[in-house]
Amino acid sequence: MKITNIREETVSIASPIRNAVIDFSSMTVSTIALETDQTVDGKPLIGYGFTSNGRYGQGGILRERIIPRLLNADPETLLSDDGHNLDPFRCWDVMMTNEKPGGHGERSVAVGAIDMAIWDLVAKFEKQPLYRLLADRYRDGQCDTAVNVYAAGGYYYPGADHSTLQDEIRKYLDMGFNAVKMKIGGASLAEDLSRIEAALQVVGDGKNLAVDANARFDIATAIEYGEAIAGYGLRWYEEPVGVLDFAALAELKAACATPIATGENIFSFDDSRNLVRYGGLDASTDYLQMDPVLSYGLVEYLRTLDMLADSGWSPRRCVPHGGHQFGLQMAAGLGLMGNEAYPEVFEPFGRFAPEMTLRDGLVCLTDAPGIGYETIPEIYEILK
Ligand code: MG
Repeated sequence: MKITNIREETVSIASPIRNAVIDFSSMTVSTIALETDQTVDGKPLIGYGFTSNGRYGQGGILRERIIPRLLNADPETLLSDDGHNLDPFRCWDVMMTNEKPGGHGERSVAVGAIDMAIWDLVAKFEKQPLYRLLADRYRDGQCDTAVNVYAAGGYYYPGADHSTLQDEIRKYLDMGFNAVKMKIGGASLAEDLSRIEAALQVVGDGKNLAVDANARFDIATAIEYGEAIAGYGLRWYEEPVGVLDFAALAELKAACATPIATGENIFSFDDSRNLVRYGGLDASTDYLQMDPVLSYGLVEYLRTLDMLADSGWSPRRCVPHGGHQFGLQMAAGLGLMGNEAYPEVFEPFGRFAPEMTLRDGLVCLTDAPGIGYETIPEIYEILK
């Protein structure tokens, strides 16, 4: 097998929403099509990927560094031992040639997008859905055929009031979700508490509602919010403090009754290890949300899962950020707790395939080979 071409193109996922820190009015993703000299069932074998969301397209790094390294490599060096299929780990080593350690920046996002396309291709070549391939390789064939998902929404919309928020949440429940996440930190504490109470009127129990501060707060504000929400029994309090301020996270954790979720802006194995070493988190109650696409791909995520296991963290505490099908496939194949979902946000990249049923917060996967983007018309239209 030989990679013959890697196409990348920046696509807009702009939307009028905002969280506590940024708006999404100019948000983009890089889309990837990785072409080969192979066919499967008479069709060209192509792997598809994109850069998750929230970090913009990475065209410059892709075009100048990552893609040329793969295209210029001796094709044999990218293959598995039997020479049959691409080896994602060997491809990863080639993509990271001449990259200094640390200081990860957003090259981890560029590498993650190509890594997604490589795993899609590898599974399609084996005529397997990716989750089954992952289960066979890393979990003795055990896989979940339905995955826990929650609706990540509740953004600040221009002109929105409590009834808009309640309507939005009702729509998610009607779709088959049973848990919802909403933003905090983009309004006053009093206003945010009032929004949370409006949301609770719709979701019922606090365990069906998570809140996300997008790393907005200093430690004093984080503790103030933590104390104010303690009585609601919420599912989790997400990214309360600075992403790499593990001392502040540990201080908050000691003062906070609500479980903590964090990790979506942790982009490497090294930073994940520091998070669990120094962040004061509890492996029995807290949640880790590293997004494999933003953080050097599934190759790096597998190393991170091993490190987490050695540190006493089960994969069942991991709920990747990003709301993409790649995360869903990993959750099913690697036994994660679940995956984020973005119903009707960041269109169309958060969509499920029409064949996938969603009930009581569980989405059923299909047997489509690879990640299955071909089965989601709105996404495939762009990727192809
Ligand atoms: Mg978040």
